[in-house]
Amino acid sequence: ASEAEERDLIVIGGGVAGYVAAIKAGQAGLKVSCIEKRATLGGTCLNVGCIPSKSLLNNTHLYHQILHDTKNRGIVVDGVHMDIAQLMKAKETSVSGLTKGIEFLFKKNNVEWVKGTGAFADEHTVDVNLVEGGERSLRGKNIIVATGSEATPFPGLTIDEEKVITSTGAIALKEVPKKMVVIGGGIIGLEMGSVWSRLGAEVTVVEYLGQIGGPGMDAEVAKATQKLLAKQGMKFKLNTKVTSGDDSSASVKINVEAAKGGKEETLDADVVLVAIGRRPYTAGLGFENIGLEVDERGRLIIDQEYRTKIPHIRVIGDCTFGPMLAHKAEEEAVAAVEYITKGYGHVNYNAIPSVMYTHPEVAWVGQNEQELQKEGVKYKVGTFPFSANSRAKTNLDTEGFVKFLSDAETDRILGVHIVGPNAGEMIAEGTLALEYGASCEDVARTSHAHPTLSEAFKEAAMATYDKAIHF
Ligand code: FAD
Ligand code: NAD
Repeated sequence: ASEAEERDLIVIGGGVAGYVAAIKAGQAGLKVSCIEKRATLGGTCLNVGCIPSKSLLNNTHLYHQILHDTKNRGIVVDGVHMDIAQLMKAKETSVSGLTKGIEFLFKKNNVEWVKGTGAFADEHTVDVNLVEGGERSLRGKNIIVATGSEATPFPGLTIDEEKVITSTGAIALKEVPKKMVVIGGGIIGLEMGSVWSRLGAEVTVVEYLGQIGGPGMDAEVAKATQKLLAKQGMKFKLNTKVTSGDDSSASVKINVEAAKGGKEETLDADVVLVAIGRRPYTAGLGFENIGLEVDERGRLIIDQEYRTKIPHIRVIGDCTFGPMLAHKAEEEAVAAVEYITKGYGHVNYNAIPSVMYTHPEVAWVGQNEQELQKEGVKYKVGTFPFSANSRAKTNLDTEGFVKFLSDAETDRILGVHIVGPNAGEMIAEGTLALEYGASCEDVARTSHAHPTLSEAFKEAAMATYDKAIHF
């Protein structure tokens, strides 16, 4: 490469972590370049993650509702069928609108997008292998690594994204499989399993642990959610481990046995979705060239200010510690740039919400009952079912409940867990309350509009220290 071009900040990766950092730095007047090798900005989340999956979840929910939940509402519909090609087109329209939007924001904030793969040449220099051919060399006063994550493969199964798929294949299938086996009952397994189950696939979820939902989901919520998803047609095999698979013939064979040893069984599937978690992606980054280290799970090691042991190199998002969530990546991006421009930054890791976008949605923030028990914290529980909420009743959408966990002595909110309609929007109030150190009584004495689903939220808070009114 020719002589290196000087930058205040180089960001490697144009996903949520990287593009937010680049925009924030541009806004602060830094000369910033963001290196992204994909043909569009936005990373996993916009291209093959959050956005396309939510498009499919929303539209298949509508379809499922039209099929199964209209007669009692007085709506008569005939001849309903799904046009999968158009479903996918609608998804692509949402994705391309949003990825182009990031490109626009880059221009607006003077961020240069360098299209190519970045690798460390030395502690300040990143060489870029350009998509259009050739190389460029950038020299940064500061460098932020935001290279994201990739699906963890399952040993013995070859991912072809058609027969054996990750979430990337699951958002792009051309036809509805007859039988789908999902390995892993975490968020991806349940969201993508829901999509294809609603479209008519016979979906079986195999989960190693005794509950669905992945890390963090409260056990009571997980149990209720499993029941609701089973009612919609999904099948579950919990406490079951996949021992091996055979994808050499037209259908895939998945061998499973009870997690604690014992009963063996072979499941047959047209399509197998591998959804056993994601791992940091740092291939080709050349972090070894400058002596940066990863932990046993491949996460780049950083301190509380996101600094590696080379202090002007910071790491944020999925390729380092913490939950692999877009809004967590976004918070870190803002904080990392503020550490550079102002010397201080802040992310409250105790108040990062989680949402699963099935129907009903599942959402939570803070600690769950199992975590509190493990820590020996004395807590109170307040719950309120949507079946006693007026708006849920008018909407004929009454499944689920809100559950508050509060400190037994001080009434401070420790966790909020919701399974029910609109849980993903409602959890924002719980997050704000937690962030501000609110008590349950603070929430319960705040007026909530009637008739809204959020009255269930208020009454669950009330139920921790007093009696709920409507239940
Ligand atoms: P990424 O989004 O993975 O971005 C990293 C980018 O870096 C990529 O575009 C990659 O091409 C680029 N890159 C890597 N190495 C280099 C290099 N050397 N040079 C140049 N470019 C490079 N989270 C939520 O909060 N809500 C959701 O609803 C949600 N749904 C999801 C659904 C699915 C199916 C999946 C898979 C994930 C979902 N997530 C969701 C998680 C979310 O997508 C991630 O947490 C988020 O994308 C992390 O952002 P990131 O910027 O750290 O990494
Ligand atoms: P996950 O960690 O949520 O769930 C993986 C599940 O697979 C766990 O329950 C685990 O016990 C199980 N498992 C692991 N190995 C297994 C085996 N051999 N056999 C059977 N079960 C096994 O991971 P994921 O669902 O793949 O999601 C990856 C990441 O993407 C998560 O961090 C998640 O937060 C993020 N994501 C978030 C959203 C959202 O916010 N709505 C949506 C999709 C993905």
